[in-house]
Order: sequence, then C-alpha cells, then structure tokens
Amino acid sequence: MAEEIAGKEKTAGEKLQEKLSFKFKNQWDAIDPELEASSHKFNEDYKQALDQGKTEREFHDMAINRLEAAGFKNLAEVEKLELGDKVYRSVHNKGLLAAIVGSKSPTEGLLLVGSHTDSPRLDLKPYPLYEQNELALLKTHYYGGIKKYQWVSTQLAIHGVVIKQDGSKVEICIGEAEDDPVLTIPDLLPHLGRKQMAKPAKEVVEGEKLNILVGSKPYPEKDLSDRFKLNILSILHDKYGITERDLVTAELEVVPAHKAKDVGLDRSFVGAYGQDDRVCAWTSLEALLDAMPQTKTQGILFFDKEEVGSDGNTGAQSDLYFFALNELCAKIMGKEPSILEVQQMLENSKLLSSDVTAAYDPDYAEVYEPLNSAYCNYGIGINKYTGGGGKGGTTDANAEYFNEITRLFEKYNIPWQAGELGKIDEGGGGTIAKFFANAGMNVIDCGVPVLAMHSCFEVTAKLDVFNTYRAYKIFFEHAE
Ligand code: MN
Ligand code: MN
Repeated sequence: MAEEIAGKEKTAGEKLQEKLSFKFKNQWDAIDPELEASSHKFNEDYKQALDQGKTEREFHDMAINRLEAAGFKNLAEVEKLELGDKVYRSVHNKGLLAAIVGSKSPTEGLLLVGSHTDSPRLDLKPYPLYEQNELALLKTHYYGGIKKYQWVSTQLAIHGVVIKQDGSKVEICIGEAEDDPVLTIPDLLPHLGRKQMAKPAKEVVEGEKLNILVGSKPYPEKDLSDRFKLNILSILHDKYGITERDLVTAELEVVPAHKAKDVGLDRSFVGAYGQDDRVCAWTSLEALLDAMPQTKTQGILFFDKEEVGSDGNTGAQSDLYFFALNELCAKIMGKEPSILEVQQMLENSKLLSSDVTAAYDPDYAEVYEPLNSAYCNYGIGINKYTGGGGKGGTTDANAEYFNEITRLFEKYNIPWQAGELGKIDEGGGGTIAKFFANAGMNVIDCGVPVLAMHSCFEVTAKLDVFNTYRAYKIFFEHAE
C-alpha cells in the first residue's frame, strides 16, 4: 500500500537487500498493544518476586511455594511418574529441579532451562560484630564480582539464617519492612578524600573497609568493656534469641534494601538488585508453570554459587543436580536407569543456559563491539559462547543446535538477538553452560540483556523480560 502511494517500485538492489541481508529489530517498532499489556502485567509480578527473593534461599522457597500451589509434588514423596505429573526436588535448600513429565522416555532427552539464583552481595564474616571508637560494626566479605565502591553510602538489609545451639533455625530479615531500620557502610567525605580519589577504582574502597554500621548506643553500665557491642548483642537476643556464638555459623547476606522499581519516564525498564540472574530464574519458572505437558519432559534448574565459580554442593558443578535428574528419570521409567540409559538421557537433552548478558551501554561504547552486542528491547540475547582470552573456559554451542533454537524462536515470533559479552580481550565471564555441555547435553546461553550488571541497581527492559518468558515457554512446548 505504502509503495503505491509513494508511486515507487523497489529497485533491484533494494529487493536483493531485503532477500539477503539480516538485522535484529527493536521490539517497540510494530509493538502489539496486547503484548505490551501482557508485558506490563508480567513485570509487575516480576518486581514483587525480586523483592521477595533477595537471596538464593528466599528465591528457592518462593519458587517452591509457587510450584506447590500449582500442584507440583516433592519428588521424594512420589514413587512412579506418569505423563503430566509435576514434581520438584530441592538441592540443599538453595538449588532446585522442577519438572513436568512428558510422554516419551527420558532417554530420548529432557528439555531444560537452567539459571542461577545467587547474586553478588556482602556476606557477614564468621566473627562479624565488633566495636571501635564507640561505634558498633559488622565485618563483611564480599561475594562475587562487585565494584566495592558501589556498596558504600547506600541503604542495606541483612537476610539469612542463624542456626541456634538447639539446632533450630531462625530466619533473619532486617531492613525490608517499611518501619525497619536499614544499615549502611559510610563512605569517606570528599573533603578528606584527596588521597582516596587518586587511587585506582578497585582500591578506592578496600574489602576490609566494607564494615557495616549497626549502632552507637552503649549497654547502660559505664565500666563494662565492649558495651556498644553488647547492646547490639542484646537487641539480637531479644528479637531472635541468638547469641554471638550463633553468629559464627550463620549465613547472613547483606543486600541493597531498596525495592524493585519502574525506571524511566516511560516506565520501560525494571531497576532492582539481583536481576542477574533471578530475571532468568523467574521467567523460566513462570514458563514452566504455564507450559502444557508435551512428549519430552520439561524442567527448570536453579543453581547457587554461579557468581563464585559454581563450586560446592549447591553449585552447578555439584553431582547432586545429576542425581536429581537420575532420580526423575528412574521414577518416570519405573526402574533404575542403566549407565547407558543415563548417558542417552544426557546426550539427547537440550538445555538453555539462561543467564543474563551485557546490554549495550552507549556511555561505555568503547568496551562493546556494536555489531555483536545485545541491545535493550531487542529480545532474548543468545551467546553462542562466553569465556575470554580466545574463547577459553566456555562451551561453544554447535551450529546445528544454535540454528535449531533460533528457527524455533522465529517460527513462534519470539524476538531474539545474538552477540558477545563485550569486545575481544576487554574481559569476559562464564555461566553454568559448560558444566552440562561437559556432561554431553546440547547447551546454549540465552537470557535477558542487563545494564549495570552486578551493581546494586541493575536495569532490564520490560519487553526483554517478557519476551524471554515467551521464549522459554515456546522452548518447553515446541522444542523437539
Ligand atoms: Mn549470571
Ligand atoms: Mn553474574
């Protein structure tokens, strides 16, 4: 129609260009109003989930609540699984497998989406509480790749668990309720910061200076030593029944106290702590909850400890995730699978390693390669490989699988884009992808592009969040 009005026929070159060339598209062009409305609603729930699950434990518990409400049963309590059965299995209260049983044998492969639910933060040290110059403070040890200077002079909350001497568990959450106090690490005033400001950024705030201010009111007994510290211990004991001894073995995580918010005058972004990688965990969880059972068994995996290399019994390198898959496999097959059958399951399985990628930031254009970067609002970002130093330390998805996934997305109108994490030799990063590729699965990294990744306030485009959910749902329902 437009062509006729313009009265202009396309030239041979224009036609050829249309036929041969390819560009990724900004999803705001030709947006469907219905999709925009669905995206808005989806992101409202997503923001709530971010506020409720600020640690891997909290996110795990929230996910199980949602799964149970949708009829998922604990795998340990089920003997035999049939088509359409829904189960979950916890990995030490931090990791998770949830699945919907398909009609085919698991040896023909599973369809999995795996993400991580830990985020960079500050952990309390084992012996954290001390007083100095009549101030009470808590010592921390940072977890994951943070820019330490971002964590000072901002509002902080403490989340976690304390195990008491009788073995009972106390859940701690300070700084989130409307009338809660918050905590903070005071930064040095600029007036006296001349030497500090001349330091390289990684030394501006040193790890041992990430000490959290928790009080300044002494226990009212003048001649007592450590009375500022004692007053804090007394408050903790009154509120939680815990002692300094209990703090030693506790797992207490310090995270930003702010809530998830709309960002931008047009409200097109979500800003929040911990979107790496809870944005992928949430979108995959919702996709599984909304997926219809198919021929292949569909599942999500949540991993802990990704930000520190995926080690330990809750990290992606833990054999427990394979045990969980084997247990699922056995209960579907109604017998213990042979070693060969387990190998068949792994070889035939398809995994989307769902982790965030860096969104192109025009203020730091020098570290991105513009043709091979993910952009906000361009849909789910696919990384064929991550790693660094000449594609080291990563899995490199094969062309067959990469093309199969992108063809699937195109068939169902899922916007996708492909890129790399920044320019060559600028740095790099890794994901859980390689551990499952090492086991023989087909794996590719794909997830939501993020601005200000690993900061206290990460930013994602709402359309990308929603389109990533759509992508995972299509994968569950239509991948072969
Ligand atoms: Mn991540
Ligand atoms: Mn990360």
